[in-house]
Amino acid sequence: MAIKLVTTATELRAESARLLTEKQGSSQGLVPTMGALHEGHAQLARTAVENNDVVVATIFVNPLQFGEAADLDRYPRTLDADLALLEAEGVDLVFAPSVEEVYPGGEPMVRVTAGPLANKWEGASRPGHFDGALTVVAKLLHYGFPGVGLPGVGLPGVAPAAYRAYFGQKDAQQLTLVKRMVADLNFPVEIVAVPIVRSAEGLALSSRNRFLSDDEREAALVLSRALKLIEGRANAHEPLDLESARAMVESQPLVQLDYFDVVDTRTLEPLAENCRDTPFRGEGLALIAAKVGPVRLIDNVPLSS
Ligand code: AMP
Repeated sequence: MAIKLVTTATELRAESARLLTEKQGSSQGLVPTMGALHEGHAQLARTAVENNDVVVATIFVNPLQFGEAADLDRYPRTLDADLALLEAEGVDLVFAPSVEEVYPGGEPMVRVTAGPLANKWEGASRPGHFDGALTVVAKLLHYGFPGVGLPGVGLPGVAPAAYRAYFGQKDAQQLTLVKRMVADLNFPVEIVAVPIVRSAEGLALSSRNRFLSDDEREAALVLSRALKLIEGRANAHEPLDLESARAMVESQPLVQLDYFDVVDTRTLEPLAENCRDTPFRGEGLALIAAKVGPVRLIDNVPLSS
C-alpha cells in the first residue's frame, strides 16, 4: 500500500480512523520528526511499525523551538526523499502540516512550560527551546490520538487503541522532558525511547551533519570517542576522570566544547560519582555538546555499572 500524505488535522483524523478500521487495528504509533530524515529516523519508524497496527509519522519544522530565524530558514527540507524513506519502512500515513495549520492564530498565547529541567544543558544555550518543543509535541500527540472519529470512540465500554509515541535517545534532554510532560499532565500515551543510530565511524546521525565539511566531520568523531572512553571506564568500574576526557575533546582545534558531564537520567543533575578518584557505580548518562564549524552537535551514552 502506498504511503498517504495529509496536511490538515481533519484529514489526519479521518485517515487514521479509516486505517484502524480497515486493519481492525488496536494500536497506533506516532513518530514526530522535523523531516530531512536519515537512518536514525528510519529506526524510529521501523520500531513503531514492528509494534503497532497503524503508524503515523509527522514532519513539521516547528518555528516555536528555534531561537534564530536564520537557523529556522536554513533547516533542510527534503519532503520527497522523506516520504520515500517512510514508505520503505512501512509507515501508513504522514502528517506534514503548514505553520498556519498548527498555529492558526499565530504564536500560541498559552504554551507548555518545560520547567527547571529545561534551563540546563541544551536549554542553557537555547532559551525557550524546550517550551517550544514541548508545546508542539503536546499538539502532535493530540493530533495523532488514535481513532478519533471512529464510531463509538469515547463511549463507555469501547476500548481505545493503544497509543505509543517514539522519540530518539539522541535528544536525551528532550526525551526526559517529554516523559515528564506526559507523566505530569496525564497524556494517555506511552513514550518509547529508541537508541542512537550512528555512522560506521561513530558519529551520531543528525539532519545537521550535512552542514559539516569533511574535516569537520572527521573532527566531530572526537565526541563519540570521548563518550566511549567514559563508557569503558564505567563498565570497568574505574573512576570516570571526566577531566582527561574533556581535555581530549578540547585538544581538537575544530571542536569547541560546550559541556561534557555525567548526569542522573531523570533529574539531569550532575552525579557525585563523576570525579577523578571514585570508581563509578550505578546508572547515569554521559552528555556532550560542542560546536563543530557552523554546527552544534549533541551526543550521549547511557552508563550502567
Ligand atoms: P528531529 O527530526 O531531529 O526533530 O528528530 C526526530 C526524532 O528522531 C527525535 O525523537 C530524535 O531524537 C530522533 N533522532 C534523531 N537523530 C537520531 C539518531 N541518530 N538516532 C536515533 N534517533 C534519532
